Amino acid sequence: MSNSDIYQNELTAHGIRPTAVRMMILKAMHMFDTAFSMSDMEQAIETVDKSTVFRTLALFAERHLIHDIDDGSGSVKYSLCMGDNSPRDHMHVHFTCERCHKTVCIRHVQVPMVSLPRGFTLHDVNYVLKGICPDCNKESV
Ligand SMILES: [Zn+2]
Ligand SMILES: [Zn+2]
Repeated sequence: MSNSDIYQNELTAHGIRPTAVRMMILKAMHMFDTAFSMSDMEQAIETVDKSTVFRTLALFAERHLIHDIDDGSGSVKYSLCMGDNSPRDHMHVHFTCERCHKTVCIRHVQVPMVSLPRGFTLHDVNYVLKGICPDCNKESV
């Protein structure tokens, strides 16, 4: 299977019609090793106009191909959802490095479950840890 087949399958598996632009944006997403912002994506694919990038990211998020992370930086970051399409996949913690300002998914660490008082319904959890990432820790040694 070629790379473009993989991207095509990834889109159709999420109920997204694979267009050339969507494939291009998905491919660019796979290039990021950390969560990316809207402007990171714009810089990665300069040939696609801003509103198309915006609409595509919104569609991908709606179909759970990507998830958004509010890391407190002021701009929403996005990251690919891995593996299953279950809500559990989104319930992992995120880590923001205070030095290099990169945000990563810590996929194997689940958000601790909280029990809410009566009358509250939980829809979303934004669990962002802050500190120094392994790369920056290495530099300071
Ligand atoms: Zn760092
Ligand atoms: Zn994540």
